[in-house]
Amino acid sequence: MRPALPPSAALSPAVAGAILLTLAASVTLTGHDGLRAARVLALMVPLFIWLRWPVQHHAWKALRLVLVSTMLCLFVLDGVVRTYIQSRYQAVPESAMVLAAVANTSPREAAEYAQSMGHALWLGLVGAGVALCAVIALTSLSNRHHAPMGKAGRWALIALLVLCSVGLLSKHWRRYHPAIYWSTWVTSITQLRSSLANQGDEREQLLANAEAAKPWLTSTGPSTVVLVITDSVNRDNMSLYGYERETTPELTAFSREEAARWLTLSYAWSAEPGTLASLSGIFSFGMRGQNDPVGQHHHVLAMARAAGYRIWWMSNHDDIAIDQQHARLAHSVEMINRQPGRGSASLDSELLDCLEEALVDPTERKLIVVHLLGAHPDYRRRAPEGMRPFDAGNDAVEARMVNDGRSLWVREMRQTYDAAIRYHDGVVTQTARLTRQHTPAQGQAAWLYLSDHGQEVGHSANRTGHSAATEAGYRIPALVWRSSPPVPAEASKRPFRADWMGWLLADLMNVRWDAMEPSRNVLDEAYAWEPPALPLKDVHFHR
Ligand SMILES: [Zn+2]
Repeated sequence: MRPALPPSAALSPAVAGAILLTLAASVTLTGHDGLRAARVLALMVPLFIWLRWPVQHHAWKALRLVLVSTMLCLFVLDGVVRTYIQSRYQAVPESAMVLAAVANTSPREAAEYAQSMGHALWLGLVGAGVALCAVIALTSLSNRHHAPMGKAGRWALIALLVLCSVGLLSKHWRRYHPAIYWSTWVTSITQLRSSLANQGDEREQLLANAEAAKPWLTSTGPSTVVLVITDSVNRDNMSLYGYERETTPELTAFSREEAARWLTLSYAWSAEPGTLASLSGIFSFGMRGQNDPVGQHHHVLAMARAAGYRIWWMSNHDDIAIDQQHARLAHSVEMINRQPGRGSASLDSELLDCLEEALVDPTERKLIVVHLLGAHPDYRRRAPEGMRPFDAGNDAVEARMVNDGRSLWVREMRQTYDAAIRYHDGVVTQTARLTRQHTPAQGQAAWLYLSDHGQEVGHSANRTGHSAATEAGYRIPALVWRSSPPVPAEASKRPFRADWMGWLLADLMNVRWDAMEPSRNVLDEAYAWEPPALPLKDVHFHR
């Protein structure tokens, strides 16, 4: 017969196990939300199954105690750290903001950070220590059980184990296991550290190149230029560009109010189908590829700085590469979206307050870059819930898509995409109205809007998303407003390519330098169109 339970044990193994499960589960539930919390709990359940399994041998029990308590401590620490980061920064640990902050922090800064937290840090450490001790003590108590288990009980545990193991088979599920998650996290930090070091040097080089070009200003008064870059917006889905669904009534109204100061670039194209490559071209005057060395290349933000502009960058994206390659050339950087990936749900309108703050800043020469999520997949998340003006279907667009053999799913995605464009219309128009409203006295203001690339939503293929292989992937909107002088109306029919934006932006900022190419500035009489090399056949760029 096995020895009886020692009388010193205040809790029976079963009660200790139940308390342990409650503790670990509640920490997990505060650290993760929704479906992810359920997945993490499923990853934790096998530990409890093992703990309940009737094991006789002492060596096995000792091993079980060490492994189960270590793993449960990891789960609890994972939950505590996540809860802290979420409540303090509204962010998850793998967000670009947190990764960049950790990768950028020296040991001295880390010590200062700890100091700045004062006794909250000690309270937190003591709290975490108590929780870990409780986990170990409860695991140890629970580990002592000798309750025998019948065949039925064993089969039930095995069935539960198999059920939970399904989670381990899925990569998206498994990666939230704290042991896997945090070792991946440490690897990301290490990689980021080495690449960030290089990009700081690259920015220095770009600033030096701009200084060497000695740019000058052609006007002396105050100047405010707002550059709005959006994501995944196809001009064919904007009523301003002739789309049958009324997706852009507000831009259309503003363009009529401001007819003399407004330019719709009818035939605008991106030179790339993806964000990073497109932004590289947009900011480098079409000269520098995504992974090219800096060399003698110019960055339009560096040029603006060298000419005396103060630069703001405000973004609804959360992307380390964009942050490092472009945003950090600005004097002030504000990233409002700290939940990474396609699932992020922060709406673009949340940037409007930031924009207004920058617009009222008394600095004489301002360049304000506003980077929107636009209509980036997932389309559903780009507009407020319930804003679905095109769900009824039965219109010309729907009829054409049916005629073209588009599936029901693609047609529904088009309705969602158009709803995102309709919401986007309000945000974009508001950025233009704010720019007009804050035109400096005795000065100028200008506003430029374009998308980084287009989007295929059943335009010429029965699918949706970024598209390198169809024109829809490159058909972007590009719009200009300038308080004075009037914009040349004839420019509206000139084809425009996004990677030449730098020349147009420099014109709007009244920045000049010796090696400028007026033939690439769409506002200039000397403009000479050269089509970008798209991986497509028979593109009619005047369309
Ligand atoms: Zn994009």
